[in-house]
This record gives sequence, C-alpha cells and structure tokens, in this order.
Amino acid sequence: MKVNNCRALSVALAIAILSSAGLAISRAADEAPLNIICFGAHPDDCELQAGGVAALWAAKGHKVKFVSTTNGDIGHWREAGGPLARRRKAEVGAVAKALGITSEVLDIHDGELLPTLDNRRTIARLIREWNADIVMSHRPNDYHPDHRYTGVLVQDVAYMVAVPFFAPDTPPLKKNPVFLFYPDSFQKPTPFKPDIAVAIDSVMDKKLDALALIESQFYEGGALGSADLISTDPAKIEERRKLVRAGLSGRNRGNSQKFRDVLTEWYGKEQADKVQYTEAFEICEYGRKPSKEDIKRLFPFFPE
Ligand SMILES: [Zn+2]
Repeated sequence: MKVNNCRALSVALAIAILSSAGLAISRAADEAPLNIICFGAHPDDCELQAGGVAALWAAKGHKVKFVSTTNGDIGHWREAGGPLARRRKAEVGAVAKALGITSEVLDIHDGELLPTLDNRRTIARLIREWNADIVMSHRPNDYHPDHRYTGVLVQDVAYMVAVPFFAPDTPPLKKNPVFLFYPDSFQKPTPFKPDIAVAIDSVMDKKLDALALIESQFYEGGALGSADLISTDPAKIEERRKLVRAGLSGRNRGNSQKFRDVLTEWYGKEQADKVQYTEAFEICEYGRKPSKEDIKRLFPFFPE
C-alpha cells in the first residue's frame, strides 16, 4: 500500500513535471524566432525588395533566408557563365552576412527558369526546411520571365507545402505560411496593391551599404551596363557610387510616397508622415490569410 502510494505520488509528480514542461515548451514556441524565406529571381532581387525588413527582423533575432531562383549567369554586359554565377553568389553571400541573414542561390541558368514540377518541389522543400512563417516573392505578372515564373512557382506551392504527400521526402508544414508579394509597377491584369508597409529608415544606411556590395549589378550596371560606367579615376568612382546609392534609396523613398495611406494604417498619421523609406508587401490570396493581429506578430515593428 505504501509502495502504491509512493508510485501514485511519482506518477502525479511525473504528470506535474510533464505538464509544466509542456507549458514551458508552448511558451518557448510562442517566443520562438520567426522564420522568413524570400524568393527572388536573381541574386539582387530579394536584397532590393526586402533588405530593409530583413535587417529589422534579424536585429530582433528572427531568421531570414534569401533564395535566388537562378544563378544570375547572364546578368552582366562583359562577363557570363560560371565565373559570373560565382561572383554573384559571393556578392549576395556578403550582403547576407552584412544583414545578419542567410542566402542561397539555386544553380539554374539566368533567363531559363521554368515553372516545372521539379522546380515546384524544390521551392516547396525550401519553404518546409525553413519552417517558414512568411514566404515572399515577385508577383506572377512581372516584366522578366524569371520573375514571373518565380511568382508562379511560389504561388503554386502556397497550399502544397502543407499537403503531406506532395514531395513526401520533406515533412509538410503544420501551418500554412503567409505568402507575400513584392511591389512592381505593372498594371495588367492588376496593379500591385500593398497590404503591409514597413518603415525602414532605421536600417536604410545598413541596407544601402549592403547593396553596394552587389557591384556587378549596381556599380557596373548588370546586363544593360557598359564600360562607360567604370572608371579608374577615384573622383569618378566616388561620383558613380553616390549616384548608385541615390538611385537605390530613391526606390524606397518612392514607396513611402506611393504607399503613405498604408503606412498610416500601420503607424498612425503622425508617425507615417515622417517615414522616408518604405518596403511594402501584398498578401497573396492563396496562403494563410492573416488577421491584423497576426500581421503585428509577424512584423513586430509597428507601434501598439
Ligand atoms: Zn531580377
């Protein structure tokens, strides 16, 4: 009897320990870092579209990964092929280091990405392996075929990532992530319509310093650049660097003007009016539909 009592006590104790452990686990899960994965067609697209918000997330201990769906091997006026792919991978690797995030470049030729079943599986696996809360990409009606097909591929998995027997070699996500699109200026069939606008003023210098590391695309002009952009004269080099920096910051300044009403929705008028630099995102209808509270949890940058 005594022994039994003792056993009963042990069981009760074990249950108490287990439930308190369970509580600890669920509390830890609530506080677990967010996992964000961003897809861009080329090694510079994620960096341009989400470099600011990535720096904000990283500073708060969240995990961000940028994936380029092609290797960028025709993205230069003077060089191409393997050496350019290696150069561009190193550039975005350096940006990732500067922003405190991770980057990966898929070894698919630039200008040749197709929405194949194999590529759909690859994208689904990447999202699952990152255990993503948020997935970002281009919209499927962007100017460049690689941008469009990146958008199509990401849109095509914005449900399949939770389906256990699609690409069953990777465990499915238990919760469908929120899928978001980057801004573009294309009007047909529908223009970009932002749902979320993030002020990136506090990290704009960091973003611009990081983007300056992508010399092949910005300083040297990428696929449509020319030898005229490059000089050996230090004064001209400095002038070109300033011009590039101004051009890049202009994109995010333009977003603030275009999307001031969305900024106001998230920051209130007084704060929104002061925002200089913005990154904005549209919610894809096919992923999880977040509530306003969900968005505040996923983007922990807005005032209460
Ligand atoms: Zn691109």
